[in-house]
Amino acid sequence: MNKAASPLRVVVAGGGTAGWMTAAALAHTLGPVIELTLVESDAIGTIGVGESTIPPMQLFNRLLGINEAEFMRATQATFKLGIMFENWRDVGHKYFHSFGTTGKDHWSAGFQHFWMHGLTQGHEHPYDDYALELQAAMQSRFAHLPDDRLNYAYQLDSALYARFLRQRAEAGGATRIEGRIAQVELNGESGDIAALVLDGDRRIEGDLFIDCTGFRALLIEGALHAGFDDWSHWRPCDSAIAIQTSSVRPAVPYTRAIAHDAGWQWRIPLQHRQGNGIVYCSRYLSQEAAQERLFATIEGDKLVKPNIIKYQTGVRRRQWHRNCVAVGLSGGFMEPLESTSIHLIQRAVLRICRMLPAGRVSERDIAEFNEQQFTDMEQIRDFLILHYKVTDRRDSPFWRHVASMAIPDSLAHKIELFRETGRVFRKNEELFVENSWVQVMMGQGIMPQSWHPVAAKLRPGELTAFLSGLRDSVARTVAGLPDHHAYVSRYCAAAEPR
Ligand code: FAD
Repeated sequence: MNKAASPLRVVVAGGGTAGWMTAAALAHTLGPVIELTLVESDAIGTIGVGESTIPPMQLFNRLLGINEAEFMRATQATFKLGIMFENWRDVGHKYFHSFGTTGKDHWSAGFQHFWMHGLTQGHEHPYDDYALELQAAMQSRFAHLPDDRLNYAYQLDSALYARFLRQRAEAGGATRIEGRIAQVELNGESGDIAALVLDGDRRIEGDLFIDCTGFRALLIEGALHAGFDDWSHWRPCDSAIAIQTSSVRPAVPYTRAIAHDAGWQWRIPLQHRQGNGIVYCSRYLSQEAAQERLFATIEGDKLVKPNIIKYQTGVRRRQWHRNCVAVGLSGGFMEPLESTSIHLIQRAVLRICRMLPAGRVSERDIAEFNEQQFTDMEQIRDFLILHYKVTDRRDSPFWRHVASMAIPDSLAHKIELFRETGRVFRKNEELFVENSWVQVMMGQGIMPQSWHPVAAKLRPGELTAFLSGLRDSVARTVAGLPDHHAYVSRYCAAAEPR
């Protein structure tokens, strides 16, 4: 049994999206049993990007008791139903990775098996016609449907989100200290972090430190040297330029990822503006050329100066080391392509809540935490590599390089299994479900050579009724949805609790 002790002193270093998500969640769930302090430096500021999310963010907000309309108003958020990938398989080709499911699975086989069998029986409707979220996105429609039938995430202003969470964290008992961390002081005996020393010599002592200092990784790497696994041989893009512009048209409920000859560009529509950026590999494109390309393709007025970002892809070898946990960019970065970074913050924070030490940190907790985080990261890594590796593009040195690179065995197995049999399996609560893998693998150009024989058990009339019933249901549902932009305005104005 734990003996009554003074509350665990938790110190969060950094106040970007990671810092304030961590502080808000800890304050909300563990407020009375911890003493929570967050240190951030206004002079250093935050990375200022990270606006596209994935559906589990709904869960995070609900866990914190956040009213969705209030959150959307505060962060100028729009709904997101997926990502449009343009020029990835080949120049001029497009496909959509939508949230939710496509068609209807049988317990023994995913819907793709029935669809492929249908193709041989003269049912030529594209796979996309069976995906509700995809069709809603294409027509820019959205509404909350009963039983959460339309699965969605958000596109939001990350600075406003951090500010919104800050209010909640402070209301929940977190203390915010403004100042620059000048030194991380270690305990001479244990080697753990003892305190953060700020400019002016103010010391902040703690028992558990959460490193949310972004790419600087001041605590986990700067002080504790947890190590870094470089993944740039799989993720060669190492630079980005971001810029915000005024909106020139109503916001659509999806993010665009538009490939170019040395990387890709994003467009993320919010209520009050649009987020734009270019991701590129500096080996193949100079900063000047990247900026020129970005500026030539953006719409609307530039609202800020371009934000130039350099990074190295990879992960911190130990996400939790001694009495310090890396959350956010300090723990690693793979790239923004599938909007997974904020989700990884969420996963880490919820794990910290579950594994909060009762006094001294347990090595078993550390090992468990690191294994779980690492599994998440490896699975996401594989999914990201898929977008580059499986392509028909050979039109530039960048695409020739990524198409020919060696890939992890885990991904090679997944690709070949799908190519041979049409099957995909989700293991260890993997973030990306079967539908995601199928949409991206087919979108990038893999067509399975066979499919599950259960599909052929449907008699021709049954197959026709099954497929047309699904298509009609999707089309009818989408036709009944209101315009996304108008819905967001109404919903935020009404502030109905959800
Ligand atoms: P930061 O925002 O950099 O915050 C670091 C904090 O530490 C700041 O408050 C800073 O002031 C503080 N700090 C640093 N040093 C000191 C010091 N010495 N003393 C005191 N304070 C200090 N993720 C998504 O999920 N979706 C996306 O669409 C997406 N797009 C991205 C695009 C790009 C180009 C990049 C690079 C990342 C993107 N990400 C995205 C990732 C996302 O931006 C981050 O995961 C998220 O913003 C969290 O960042 P952070 O809080 O870890 O770091």
